[in-house]
Amino acid sequence: MGEKSMGQVRIGALEAGGTKMVCAVGLADGTILEQESMPTDVPEKVIPKLAEWFSSHDVDALGIGAFGPTGVNPRSPKYGYVLETPKSGWRGFDFLGSMTSRLGVPTGYDTDVNVACLGEATYGCARGLDVVVYLTIGTGIGAGVMIDGHLLHGMLHPEAGHILLGRRPADPGHSVCPYHEDCFEGLAAGPSIERRWGKPAVELADRPEVWELESDYIAQALSTYVLCYSPQRIILGGGVMKQMQLLDLVRSKVTADLAGYISAPELEDMDTYIVPNSLHERQGIMGCVELGRRALAGE
Ligand code: ADP
Ligand code: ZN
Repeated sequence: MGEKSMGQVRIGALEAGGTKMVCAVGLADGTILEQESMPTDVPEKVIPKLAEWFSSHDVDALGIGAFGPTGVNPRSPKYGYVLETPKSGWRGFDFLGSMTSRLGVPTGYDTDVNVACLGEATYGCARGLDVVVYLTIGTGIGAGVMIDGHLLHGMLHPEAGHILLGRRPADPGHSVCPYHEDCFEGLAAGPSIERRWGKPAVELADRPEVWELESDYIAQALSTYVLCYSPQRIILGGGVMKQMQLLDLVRSKVTADLAGYISAPELEDMDTYIVPNSLHERQGIMGCVELGRRALAGE
């Protein structure tokens, strides 16, 4: 790392979403020094712009949180590649390689939801915890999972937004997932709410039946995560969670779904167990900073 201490290094952070690329430079303590966004154009156009931005900002390392599915296992030949995506030009694209070949700095690479989880676990409401689930409910549903301080990869990375749920008999469903009739994303993502009730979710705030059903599906999914991952805290984000009335409904339904089978102090205080995200929509970009820091430190 030369003469710079970890406190002084300039860490590049790239939150690569399906519609926009957020670029930032931060310090290891999570301070964001500068930030700029650009549209997610085809790779041939946007990659040179991204590389130019980071090299002109003199970064010592980079952390990338990419839209998935994408290769996150360093031992896989597809590490750093974008996998199945309808986004023009991105399918099968070597995202990580195209950035490292231009920048030549240590670079960490993970999914957008895993970096959001990392941001909260490093700088936010899950600091000091080592098993954490971060769930985003927006246009799609995705979960980032940290186990013993490491983001979970395995074969690919978790796709916990597509677990199958029990659909309420009166709910016609109309899944928005092209793969599954009854998966969590298909039944409960923002576009699913809109398809079912005929209006954008934000315009349904005063319809209790909408949030009753929505919280039912969210609670089913969270109960499964509790049982499978044994998280110490679950963090909820994404546009749909702006409906704050969902939180308490979800908390009480998770308690009901678990039906007393697990007893742990965490589950006795649902208000601190299931929480909204805490970094004012900066959890992703701050997680990229930590990812870059880890890459530089060789962690
Ligand atoms: P994305 O998932 O595309 O990154 P968001 O997390 O903002 O973006 O999610 C967008 C989805 O969230 C849309 O389906 C939208 O209907 C829904 N949404 C956005 N704001 C609200 C709100 N205040 N209340 C309910 N749903 C919302
Ligand atoms: Zn699905």
